[in-house]
Amino acid sequence: MANKFSALMLASMISLNAAAVVDKNFDYHVDRFADIEVLRYEVPEFDRLSLNQKKMIYYLSQAAQAGRDIIWDQNGRYNLQIRKLLENIYTNFKGDKNSKDFKAFEKYLKQVWFGNGIHHHYSSDKFIPEFSEAFFAEQVKALPDSLLPLNEGETREAMVATLTPVIFDPTVMPKRVNQDGTKDVVATSANNLYGEGVTQAEVEEYYSKLKDPNDPRPISYGLNAKVVKENGKIKEEHYHLNGLYGPAIAKIIYWLDMAKSVAENDAQKTYITKLIDYYITGDLRLFDEYSILWAEDTASDVDFVNGFIESYGDPLGMTGSWESYVNFKNNKSTSRTETISNNAQWFEDNSPVDPRFRKPTVKGVSAKVINAAMLAGDAFPSTAIGINLPNSNWIRAEHGSKSVTIENITEAYDMASHGNGFNKEFVIDEATGKLLDDYLYITDMLHTDLHECLGHASGQILPGVDPDALKENGSTLEEARADLFALYYLADPKLQELGILDNPEAYKAEYYKYMLNGLMTQLNRIEPGKDVEEAHMRNRQLIAAWILDKGKKDKVVELVKKKGKTFVKINDYKKMRSLIAQLLKEIQRIKSEGDYKAGVELINKYAVKVDPKLHKEVLQRFSTLDIPPYRGFINPVYVPVYDDKGNITDVKLTYGEGYADQMLRLSRDFTTLGF
Ligand code: ZN
Repeated sequence: MANKFSALMLASMISLNAAAVVDKNFDYHVDRFADIEVLRYEVPEFDRLSLNQKKMIYYLSQAAQAGRDIIWDQNGRYNLQIRKLLENIYTNFKGDKNSKDFKAFEKYLKQVWFGNGIHHHYSSDKFIPEFSEAFFAEQVKALPDSLLPLNEGETREAMVATLTPVIFDPTVMPKRVNQDGTKDVVATSANNLYGEGVTQAEVEEYYSKLKDPNDPRPISYGLNAKVVKENGKIKEEHYHLNGLYGPAIAKIIYWLDMAKSVAENDAQKTYITKLIDYYITGDLRLFDEYSILWAEDTASDVDFVNGFIESYGDPLGMTGSWESYVNFKNNKSTSRTETISNNAQWFEDNSPVDPRFRKPTVKGVSAKVINAAMLAGDAFPSTAIGINLPNSNWIRAEHGSKSVTIENITEAYDMASHGNGFNKEFVIDEATGKLLDDYLYITDMLHTDLHECLGHASGQILPGVDPDALKENGSTLEEARADLFALYYLADPKLQELGILDNPEAYKAEYYKYMLNGLMTQLNRIEPGKDVEEAHMRNRQLIAAWILDKGKKDKVVELVKKKGKTFVKINDYKKMRSLIAQLLKEIQRIKSEGDYKAGVELINKYAVKVDPKLHKEVLQRFSTLDIPPYRGFINPVYVPVYDDKGNITDVKLTYGEGYADQMLRLSRDFTTLGF
């Protein structure tokens, strides 16, 4: 049996390597600025798709890009105006393009493009321009009236007076999402998900009145709404065809309708129709109906997400940021995740959490490996390597969820990282380095599979507990729960039995990387003096710092010094696994019981604060490597080929576009909301 399994494993490794050989000449690197590297990804096997599937991908890609302006406006109410102004300055600039001011201006514009607005996509801090206010004023002055993005009735002077502090003053709109629970997180967040003057207390009161704690199937309150204050009264304004973002939504609907005409099967047609109905009405019950149909369609090869989905952009975790993701199935690798999800019940039954908090029956967590074909909205340019949707807890419990690992994106990250010197600088010894070389790619993929297919889908909330009870810490603790579930099972012999990992020691590669990242290397993404803010980063530090602390007595994991440099040293991988089990048990309890206070204590003790000395050392060591802390992607371009009757006969895929070119083209072709 073992032989058969390792042969299977070997086959999957070979297929990965084979892909890598084919990709040898593919140029992954596109642009580099500030703390960002922009990559491109390859879409393998696009050519093997049928004409209808190619058309479907083309139409869905158009629907994806049609929503671009929505995320910009959700991220901040001046973003669209600022984008247009900056782009017009950039494309009409007549001065010296090598001047310091112009270079700084170009860098700022590239950052703004990457952030879908004036705040960093990850830290959510406002970008600080390195060009002068005088340069800015001069450039605006040089633009003719016809190139000024003015609001109705707005003068040139008024626009400059409004936008100058928004761009330059670090105290104005400093943070897109403020998660500091000691402040009013609604009033102090610069995003555009709440109207002016709305407070956290008002929003919480508004929704507590709407929510029925005994409703077993609640809609996702606030998911497609902006909460505003009108004449002193709090109310929701919804995103739909005749409401907020109507013009963008009209375009999305048009392209979804085109996609429907070439859908792969009736089930897919039905859920696209439902999605369109939801976009027309804004009715969240229709969104739930759509989500159920979508989650249950596992037969279609081409698939997509298009809507208000993830709520990380909302400090209260309710409003969904608009995003779209078009993809198709990678058949070769999907058998791996199918094996995992076919055994979901075994994993649930054997997890270390209190049996009361386990799901008695885990609904088929469908899982597949996909190739991304188009990223958009909140999923662009920065993007995830795995997704698990829908987010609604009761839908997941009753109908299951769809979980995907995005192979071509993961592969692009991996390929673009080779030879960057990271292991040499941060990994403690050669043996560990070899372990990472041999097993990190596959264990990373498996970690994502387990996190998405099983982790998020596992466990249950006790009856009567508000799913939002953990408030501002909900996202962090949910990510921690999914990560711990994945880490725990990576080391389980079950994976050898199932034939998805051939070496019982392989998990050590992921454990080492996880501790190294959570304790040290992810600090590269934090500016000196700042705390850890983003939910996934908090989750990783929480887990790593907790294990370090709780394992101190037995020296399970240590931070050791070698030639003045700090290294992570793992002395006992088995004990580390039992600590993972212990923390998983506790975090599941916190989630199941809605124990807000215990959540706050864990987060405050482990997830937020940074050791300034270690932080400085990490930044210094990274600076010698020139590894960008953040990476994202531009998309390939899909070009339909028409016959003389106007029918599409083929869709061609091209990769050559540059970063600025792509951003300017998107602004030219997909501007839907003003300017
Ligand atoms: Zn997750």
